[in-house]
Amino acid sequence: MNEALTNALVALKKNRFDVYFAENKEEAREIALSLIPEGASIAVGGSATIDQLGLLSEFRNGKYRFIDRYDFASQEEREEKFRLGLTADVFVMSSNAVTEDGILYNVDGRGNSVAALDYGPKSVVVIAGRNKIVPTLKDAVLRVKTVAAPLNARRLNCGTYCAEKGHCLSVDQGCAENMTAGCGSRGRICSRYSVQAMQFVPDRIKVILVDDELGF
Ligand code: SF4
Repeated sequence: MNEALTNALVALKKNRFDVYFAENKEEAREIALSLIPEGASIAVGGSATIDQLGLLSEFRNGKYRFIDRYDFASQEEREEKFRLGLTADVFVMSSNAVTEDGILYNVDGRGNSVAALDYGPKSVVVIAGRNKIVPTLKDAVLRVKTVAAPLNARRLNCGTYCAEKGHCLSVDQGCAENMTAGCGSRGRICSRYSVQAMQFVPDRIKVILVDDELGF
């Protein structure tokens, strides 16, 4: 385990997150499933990490009441599922960045994932690979603008500046440290910003840090 990962684990614990360490993807999947009781209602955030861990097929296996955001017949049904997810027993997601001083940083477009992280689901399981760990919140902001958002914008075909250039417009404008500075694209995926520091309700948010590269 590298020093950054150790620092993050200790600091997250101090900030009253329920913290777990997984050596690899398989262990991360096992830990995540152990935190979800059979019969629980589950919703997920859009996440390459969750895809890579194969968790969606686990959630669809009939043991849970999965609010499947990827299975919808109309835009109305899709929106209804996003709303239902906010009262799920368990919400599973990743984080855009985890700092060595114990902060989770997430940027969202629609807002359902950061809303669930803030309040609603009884339990939130956050899974993040070691590639998401950065020293400070300032580095977390830069990570989103230079790594997470550009790759997500490409994955989602958003047609934004970062999807084409590989970094946020604010980098070229010299104001990347300004959290909310960015493009004016209708497809902009950076609209809501969540900084999770010391928790008022201890252990509601479970964080599984994985000693492997996962998602972006
Ligand atoms: S503000 Fe726009 S250009 Fe900047 S990272 Fe977000 S989507 Fe990309």
